[in-house]
Amino acid sequence: MRNNNKPEVKLISKPDNMLKTIYTACRTCYSADTPLNIYDKDVTEEKMLSLIKRVIGSGHYSTIEHIQVSFAISNISRACTHQLVRHRHMSFSQKSQRYVEEKGQFDYLIPYTIEKNEELKGKFEKYMSQISNMYLELTQAGIPAEDARAVLPNACATSMVISTNLRELIHVANLRLCTRAQQEIRMLISQMCNALTESEPWLKEYLVPKCERLGFCDEDKSCGRKPQLESLK
Ligand SMILES: Cc1cc2nc3c(=O)[nH]c(=O)nc-3n(C[C@H](O)[C@H](O)[C@H](O)COP(=O)(O)OP(=O)(O)OC[C@H]3O[C@@H](n4cnc5c(N)ncnc54)[C@H](O)[C@@H]3O)c2cc1C
Repeated sequence: MRNNNKPEVKLISKPDNMLKTIYTACRTCYSADTPLNIYDKDVTEEKMLSLIKRVIGSGHYSTIEHIQVSFAISNISRACTHQLVRHRHMSFSQKSQRYVEEKGQFDYLIPYTIEKNEELKGKFEKYMSQISNMYLELTQAGIPAEDARAVLPNACATSMVISTNLRELIHVANLRLCTRAQQEIRMLISQMCNALTESEPWLKEYLVPKCERLGFCDEDKSCGRKPQLESLK
């Protein structure tokens, strides 16, 4: 079955005391007091944010590694997850094509550049149906799913639970929200960031394309959002 092209994303786990945890980590570095005393003291959100932003601003990113968040994600393509799993500090649990055998037409995503071309879209859908027939012919002949999947395309829909610490999420957002990244992964990361900033709006300034944080573009081919590094030299 052909899916709509929007990833389904839900933030399923996040510490309630995110700010206080990061603040305690930051303050511990510069205080004679114990972390426990620092944690137990009443501090305003404004004061916590002021220290946290200074510490992040000076590149002491280990302080935000204490925060772990998890997302339940579905309706993304295997092409997209192949890009995601390159991020080595994220943790993944993905629907298996070995243990979950397709019983009919597999779900798939149509890239939006194909979706908007009626003629190519029709051919694409027909091709997915042919692939499905081949897959079913293999499994019905007793070929195990782990081998029959060899014919399945990058467009196959999949699902994942992704967990990451905050430092890695910011790094991934900086890379994958850039217009040089593929549209599908940009949409996915954007939805993950939005899910988190709903309850943690102070993170909005960090969960941006890298050019927003650098102030310039370091890509060979620029979208023009910021001046290229070369032009600033
Ligand atoms: C627009 C775009 C295009 C891309 N095109 C291609 C492509 O054509 N071909 C391709 O193969 N990949 C491609 N990639 C993937 C890219 O090369 C990286 O593998 C991926 O983005 C993971 O990034 P990372 O290594 O910075 O981050 P992560 O794996 O998320 O790691 C985060 C950071 O930890 C540190 N780190 C992690 N592991 C190590 C290590 N072993 N040694 C030292 N430091 C480490 C680094 O500072 C790293 O930046 C592309 C990525 C993007 C965003």
